[in-house]
Amino acid sequence: MNATTLHKNEYSFGLLGFPLDHSLSPVLHHTALKCHNLKGKYHLFPVDQNDFHLSIPQQLIRIRSGELDGLNVTIPYKQKVIQYLDELTPAADAIGAVNTIYVDNNKLFGHNTDAGGFKRDLESLNIDHQAGNILVLGAGGAARAVVYSLLRSDSRVIICARRTEQANQIKLDFESKVLTNHLHIIELSEESLTSNLNEVFLIINTTPLGMSPNTNRCPWPENLIFPPDACLYDLIYNPLKTKLMQIATISGARAYNGLGMLIEQAAMAFFTWTGLDPDKDKMREAALNALA
Ligand code: NAP
Repeated sequence: MNATTLHKNEYSFGLLGFPLDHSLSPVLHHTALKCHNLKGKYHLFPVDQNDFHLSIPQQLIRIRSGELDGLNVTIPYKQKVIQYLDELTPAADAIGAVNTIYVDNNKLFGHNTDAGGFKRDLESLNIDHQAGNILVLGAGGAARAVVYSLLRSDSRVIICARRTEQANQIKLDFESKVLTNHLHIIELSEESLTSNLNEVFLIINTTPLGMSPNTNRCPWPENLIFPPDACLYDLIYNPLKTKLMQIATISGARAYNGLGMLIEQAAMAFFTWTGLDPDKDKMREAALNALA
C-alpha cells in the first residue's frame, strides 16, 4: 500500500488503455471517493498504440511527481507497461500483467488486483474452488490472473484455448511461481470439451465472446449441452447476462457475470492508493446505473 497518499485533500487517479469510451472505472472510483467524503477525479488517458512509447512514460512522470496518486492499466497495455516500472508485486510478477500502479519509497510499483478481485468475488458468491475440476475458457491476460488465483488456492484447472500454445506458455511462465501439477491444457473444441467434462463443477469464461456490442457470440460449442450441475462464472459484465449465461441457466446451471470481480479489483486498487476500503454496495449500484 502507498501510505504516503493517505489523508490527502484531493485525489487524482487515472486509467491508461485503448479504447476507454465505455470504461466503468471513473464511475466506480468517483463513488468510492464520494463515500469517504473525499474530493478527487479519475481521468481517462486513452493511449494510441502508435505512440505508447512516448505517452505511457509521460503519464508515469506524473505519478512519480505526485501529480497523480494512482493509475490503472487496461487492454492493451497490461503487459507493455511493465518495462517502464521499477518493481512488480509478487502477483503482478507471476501473472505477467499490471493493472494498478502506485509509488512507494520513490519507486514505481506495478500490481495486479484482477487475481485478488476474482478470488474475493468467488468467495462472496460462496463458490467453492476445490470441489473438482475447473474449466477456464481462453488463455489471455484475464485467464492468467484467474488461473494464478485458482492455482494458489490448490484448485484443479483445465485451460481450454483455441491456441493451446498460448495456454502452454501460461503453464511454462507459472512453473517457478506456483504449483502447476494440477494445471492441464486442452483445445477449445466440442470434441475435447466433451471428453473433459467429468468432475467439472465450475466453468469460467475469460474470452471476450459475447461482450457488447457482439452479444450474440459465445465460446461454448453449439451442439454441446452445458453441464447442468456446473456453475458458470463469465468475466464479462456488459451485458449483465451474456449468451453463454443464458445457455447455462437454460440448462439448469447457476451463472454469474464478472461485475463483482470488476468492483473487487477496483476496490483493491482504491485501497492500494488511499488505504481506505470503499463501499462496494454503492459502487455496484453506481455501475448498474451506468450500465442501464
Ligand atoms: P485477451 O488478453 O485479449 O484474451 C482473450 C482470450 O480469449 C485469448 O485467449 C483469445 O485467444 C481468446 N479468444 C478471443 N476470441 C476468441 C474466439 N473467437 N474463440 C476462442 N477464443 C477466443 O483479453 P483479456 O484481457 O483476457 O480479457 C478477456 C475478457 O475478460 C474481456 O471480455 C474483458 O472485458 C474481461 N475481463 C473482465 C474483468 C472483470 O473484472 N470482470 C477483468 C479483466 C478482463 P486468441 O489470443 O487466440 O485471440
